[in-house]
Amino acid sequence: MADPKGFLKEGREVATRRPVEERIHDWNEVYPDGIGRALLPIITPQAGRCMDCGIPFCHQGCPLGNIIPEWNDLVWRDDWEGAIERLHATNNFPEFTGRLCPAPCETACVLGINQDPVTIKNVEVSIIDKAWESGYVRPQAPEWLSGRTVAVVGSGPAGLAAAQQLTRAGHTVAVYERADQIGGLMRYGIPEFKMEKKHLDRRLDQMKREGTVFRAGIDVGSESSGLSGTKLRERYDAVVLAMGATEARDLPITGRELGGIHQAMEFLPQANRAALGLEQLDGQEQIMATDKDVVIIGGGDTGADCLGTSTRHGARSVTQLEIMPEPPESRPAGQPWPTYPMTFRVSSAHEEGGDRVYAVSTKEFLGDQDGNVRALLLVDVVFEGGKLTEIEGTEREIPAQLVLFAMGFVGPEKPGIVEQLGVDLDERGNVARDKDYMTSVPGVFSAGDCGRGQSLIVWAIAEGRAAAAAVDQHLTGSTTLPRPIPPTARPLVV
Ligand SMILES: Cc1cc2nc3c(=O)[nH]c(=O)nc-3n(C[C@H](O)[C@H](O)[C@H](O)COP(=O)(O)OP(=O)(O)OC[C@H]3O[C@@H](n4cnc5c(N)ncnc54)[C@H](O)[C@@H]3O)c2cc1C
Ligand code: SF4
Repeated sequence: MADPKGFLKEGREVATRRPVEERIHDWNEVYPDGIGRALLPIITPQAGRCMDCGIPFCHQGCPLGNIIPEWNDLVWRDDWEGAIERLHATNNFPEFTGRLCPAPCETACVLGINQDPVTIKNVEVSIIDKAWESGYVRPQAPEWLSGRTVAVVGSGPAGLAAAQQLTRAGHTVAVYERADQIGGLMRYGIPEFKMEKKHLDRRLDQMKREGTVFRAGIDVGSESSGLSGTKLRERYDAVVLAMGATEARDLPITGRELGGIHQAMEFLPQANRAALGLEQLDGQEQIMATDKDVVIIGGGDTGADCLGTSTRHGARSVTQLEIMPEPPESRPAGQPWPTYPMTFRVSSAHEEGGDRVYAVSTKEFLGDQDGNVRALLLVDVVFEGGKLTEIEGTEREIPAQLVLFAMGFVGPEKPGIVEQLGVDLDERGNVARDKDYMTSVPGVFSAGDCGRGQSLIVWAIAEGRAAAAAVDQHLTGSTTLPRPIPPTARPLVV
């Protein structure tokens, strides 16, 4: 156990972010020198707050099965090499989750019953950042090759986790990605200020040294790629579909056709390219928020990323609309510990500005004489009897020259590889799989958002790891790879 009295002596402490005035003028992470370094002066006593519970409920919150009390203890004892060994035993990419995860482990932490929970996510990111700096993260190339080949389609966290596990198990793995660079949503969706791409690139370099082959710029199933789903299946002993849930939810109301209305994933990838000094694709003109009134429809992670990006562009105003009522500051009675509660959360982007408007629905987009959006017609709504009802007399306009949709994703795109392979879909339009992550087509597996529906990085990594174990079993008849979750596992929510 870490410090037996740690939780009595120390309160929860987090690293201080850079001043808002400074950070909104650049794209770097919001912590000085990166979060790992910012945490070093405070992290040891924070790890010492862990009580090493007899039944560590933090494990229930995390789909990876992270062995949290063990690495808390090792950090407290200053054994960072031991800590990264324990952390990597369950998580291929702690630098991603340590920066980006909403930390369901923390809302499940036993200390959280009557105190602030252990800063588990911060301990995690401190361990991995220090491990990279200290040279503890090395390529783990396989000792022998199985002679079996696997194609992974999609290079987000699910595809990368599956690829790393299978490469290390001795299979020859190629990851196909239609974007010009590897990384899935972590490359062109999530902005630099949340995770600088150098962290992704460092991990990809490790994977290349282990033997994983990356093929970026190949849209499997498209005519231009010359590589159909069927051909891919013939060419490889197994295929893992990890294409994400990239079909965005739309709002087909009056005025949708006006200029200046875009999906978040049209706006964010362009902003990411510009932040990294890359040219826009096909000479596209970049969508900019500069000097505009921006309205973001949708209140989640994607909406917050659009907010932080618009702030950095120099928007005149940014308003984030959410159809549901404002959540409470603290855990509501109906969402008891250890579930993940819906509470009012303030991300780094929210600290930087913008307004949030709750319980409101957009009725219409209003245009100007040039065919561009000039305003939204809003109405207040109330959630009663299981449905949303408009409140009479609350209709009003708010100005907007740029509208961004961040309303979630409805599933994987169907034309192309999904149709060519003929895999069955589930009732929600995701790629259906059996208990071993295998789709209706033998030898074709699915992992991450394309099978589970829109989710989180931590779930994608857990699925990638579990699907890799199933693929290994399929190819060789046995496996020693870990299998953290079945495809039916769901987050701890009420
Ligand atoms: C803007 C945004 C911000 C987010 N922020 C967070 C966050 O802070 N924390 C968090 O936990 N989660 C966050 N999420 C959710 C998280 O990013 C996803 O749950 C996760 O990336 C899913 O991983 P995945 O591997 O299943 O798919 P993805 O990351 O979506 O990757 C799938 C990849 O497959 C590629 N692909 C698709 N079809 C083909 C094809 N035919 N051929 C080749 N390649 C193909 C796509 O181009 C894509 O790169 C965010 C999501 C968005 C959109
Ligand atoms: S539940 Fe919290 S206090 Fe208990 S072992 Fe996990 S991190 Fe430590």
